[in-house]
Amino acid sequence: MEHYKSQMINVRIQQCIGIALILAGAYAGLFELKGNDRFFALVLPLFSIGFLGQAHSIQKRIEHYATNNYTKYAKDHPAHVTERGVTCFQCKSPKIHTKNLMQGSFTREHHCGQCGTTLYYSPEQNR
Ligand SMILES: [Zn+2]
Repeated sequence: MEHYKSQMINVRIQQCIGIALILAGAYAGLFELKGNDRFFALVLPLFSIGFLGQAHSIQKRIEHYATNNYTKYAKDHPAHVTERGVTCFQCKSPKIHTKNLMQGSFTREHHCGQCGTTLYYSPEQNR
C-alpha cells in the first residue's frame, strides 16, 4: 500500500488543480468578463472536467492494483497459494509470469503463463 501513496498524492494534486480551474473559469466567466473573454473563461471549466475525469480514472486504476495484491489472492484462493508456490486459480498451472505495466504505474501484473488470467499485482522491484 505504501508504494501507491505518492501516486495517490499526485492524483489529489491534479484534482485540486482541476477544481480550482473550474471555479476560477466559472467565476471569471460569470462575473468578471464580457464578450469573447467570457466565452473562453467558460470553456476552461469544460476542459477542467475532462482533466478531472482523467485523474479519476488514474485513481481507480491505482486502487485496483493496490487492492488486488498477493495477500488478497492468497485469501481468495488459499488452495492455490501453498508452500510449493502459486498456481493459477482457473487452470491450476504453476507457470506464473510477470509483466511490467509501465505508464508510470510502477506496477507488475502477475498472470498465468498458460491461460493468461490475471492473478494479482505487485509493486515493481528496485524502487
Ligand atoms: Zn491459468
